[in-house]
Amino acid sequence: MTKQFKICLLPGDGIGPEIIAESVKVLDAIGAKYDTKFDYEEALLGGIAIDETGSPYPEATQTCAHEADAVLLAAVGGPKWDSTDPTAPRPEQGLLGIRKDLGLYTNLRPVRTYRALADSSTLKPEVIDGVDLIIVRELTGGLYFGARERFYDELGSGANGTAGQRAYDTLEYREYEVERIARQAFEAARKRRGRVHSIDKANVLETSRMWREIVHRIHDEEYPDIELTDMLVDNTAMQLVANPRQFDVLVTENTFGDILSDEASMLTGSLGMLASASLGDGTALYEPSHGSAPDIAGQGIANPIAQILSAEMMLRYSFDMADAADDIAHAVEAVLDEGWRTGDLKQADTPADHVLGTAAMGDKIVAHL
Ligand code: NAD
Repeated sequence: MTKQFKICLLPGDGIGPEIIAESVKVLDAIGAKYDTKFDYEEALLGGIAIDETGSPYPEATQTCAHEADAVLLAAVGGPKWDSTDPTAPRPEQGLLGIRKDLGLYTNLRPVRTYRALADSSTLKPEVIDGVDLIIVRELTGGLYFGARERFYDELGSGANGTAGQRAYDTLEYREYEVERIARQAFEAARKRRGRVHSIDKANVLETSRMWREIVHRIHDEEYPDIELTDMLVDNTAMQLVANPRQFDVLVTENTFGDILSDEASMLTGSLGMLASASLGDGTALYEPSHGSAPDIAGQGIANPIAQILSAEMMLRYSFDMADAADDIAHAVEAVLDEGWRTGDLKQADTPADHVLGTAAMGDKIVAHL
């Protein structure tokens, strides 16, 4: 029987419409191969939504997102909507709005290196060869969401006991928040190579000691088939550049995850290759890690691969179509191995006739499917 999925498409601003069109091409090819029908509904988010409705996350988009099986987003923002007026609506409010509305407490950021692009990384090819990891970052709690304050302290927090400014941020987790992020990480590991590193700072932080206990309890009770290792966050920062191949899934607190995922993203050396997923308990959202690239918008030269790999993640994590997702990953790898590049991936020795535009790169990937 033909399977059917409803996808809410949010092209957004800048290069968004150009790159999302390529992921639709790829999805249609997958649909034909796997007897699956993808129904698309397009809606407005970000700058274009402000222009057309006055709101960065209009009601029609909220309905589209809630009724879909998954949301595929490109990117939002651009100089047109940059304003110093604090009351003016901003495209990023659309992003924050949809993440909050869908209750997306998990961010997944995969990092995979491609042999063909080894020269784009600042690390030695023998260090990054074969890296295939994913960072599972808790997204709605931790240090970024705890109580904070800044105040003038008459009691003497300045130098030599004189009055001065004082500020604090707090890191707080509730048991259920750690339980649900741990489950997301173990589920991701079951769809991958079955290994999880839980990253914390348990030698210093009480939240980390609780985090560690809860992650182990969920592991022992529900996921004993997964190999679980604890690692301190400072050691992880070092291990990511020293020996990144040891990792499969890393799960961590919001701030730690923010920093580690930016560090890990540089293993690949190219922003145009990085996809991401945000998951909650309902509809999930998939998007590239890069922005709307207004500097190259409308020219047909943007790299669509991060967007196409976002669709790959959607197949894997929302539609349980791991074989189809693997097909996309292999097609991307094959196209790069053959030497095809978009402008941002071009190397000094890339022949001019191997530099492709957005649509031509999409076509090459489809041809490999
Ligand atoms: P950016 O990621 O849009 O661009 C940074 C650089 O990388 C630019 O030179 C751009 O041309 C290039 N680039 C990015 N994606 C590319 C692709 N697919 N192919 C080829 N080259 C690519 O970041 P920025 O310039 O800091 O921000 C531009 C706008 O995007 C801003 O309005 C920002 O707020 C917004 N933004 C949105 C998101 C999002 O929607 N999630 C994320 C980051 C930035």
